Amino acid sequence: MEPLVVGHLFPDYLNIYADRGNIAVLNARAAWRGYELEVRALGAGAEIRPGEHDLFYVGGGQDREQALIAPALAALAPALHEAFEQGAAFLAVCGGYQLLGRFYRDQSGVEQPGVGLLPLHTIAGSRRMIGDVLLECELEPGRRETLAGFENHAGRTILDEGAEPLGRVVSGFGNDGETGYEGCRVGRAIGTYLHGPLLPRNPWLADWLLAQAIAHRTGAAPGLEPLPDELEHEAHAVSARRAETRGGRF
Ligand code: GLN
Repeated sequence: MEPLVVGHLFPDYLNIYADRGNIAVLNARAAWRGYELEVRALGAGAEIRPGEHDLFYVGGGQDREQALIAPALAALAPALHEAFEQGAAFLAVCGGYQLLGRFYRDQSGVEQPGVGLLPLHTIAGSRRMIGDVLLECELEPGRRETLAGFENHAGRTILDEGAEPLGRVVSGFGNDGETGYEGCRVGRAIGTYLHGPLLPRNPWLADWLLAQAIAHRTGAAPGLEPLPDELEHEAHAVSARRAETRGGRF
């Protein structure tokens, strides 16, 4: 099989907390199962041909970096919507999550345009939501998993009525510190505030994304052979404990 193609959107601007580490995890977990990953950076004016990318990734950034690239990212909206309709998978983290929504109104009151792929908008608040987070997710019916991570955002994300969150907050703030939900999921697209080592300590999510990308390419969900993951599970447990003891609260 030709390599799976990952479109990494604006990697030079949206890469806070080493969000690009998530790509390294996808790369390794794909290779261990005999799949090759080809990562292509996508910036302003990028040409995105229909069907070319199996997965899109966008990391987090500060308001300043987001403001610099938001119009150029929004200009890619028609191509990104088409790719999504054709079954490409998406992972968007923090600032990237906000910009996959309709808009982000930043600290200075400026409205940054979004891609409008996720049914939500975000408004910067006066207090930052910082801390370890633990979520309960059920991306596949009957398959309950937990996600452990770290959040740091001032933006409060409001999901549209009836939109599906990524998970329920067990500890931490989540989308807005009030509703008890975190992230958003539409089909194969996921947005979340969980940063940095999201995939290293949540290998089940990495495999879920890989499976979506492979399904986009081949038309069938692959059976990915399980990996030992002892270190990954330990990292998850440490992170989950931290969230339970010092997860953010207002
Ligand atoms: N600028 C956004 C906020 O503070 C996102 C920050 C980030 O990506 N860490 O809400």
